[in-house]
Amino acid sequence: MNFHCAHCPRAYGSKDVLRGHLVAVHFESAKLPCTHCNKTYKNIKSLRSHLRKIRCGRIHGCDSCGKKFHHRYDLMRHIGQLHDR
Ligand SMILES: [Zn+2]
Ligand SMILES: [Zn+2]
Ligand SMILES: [Zn+2]
Repeated sequence: MNFHCAHCPRAYGSKDVLRGHLVAVHFESAKLPCTHCNKTYKNIKSLRSHLRKIRCGRIHGCDSCGKKFHHRYDLMRHIGQLHDR
């Protein structure tokens, strides 16, 4: 019983069971991060479709803040939104 729910007093023996409880009882979607960029996905299906879109696997890093993007246009949009002077 090492994994305590943040929303109620329940505790579970494994992280997976607790995650199942969170989704079922508190409707909290589990966050699945992409290992290549900082994006997180609510379910494995969305993450897989995201990963499928990455053809070359090239990462475009922002020179100003180090944020990573799969596509050049994502990086350009990010620079335009946050670092445009
Ligand atoms: Zn709970
Ligand atoms: Zn990604
Ligand atoms: Zn940046």
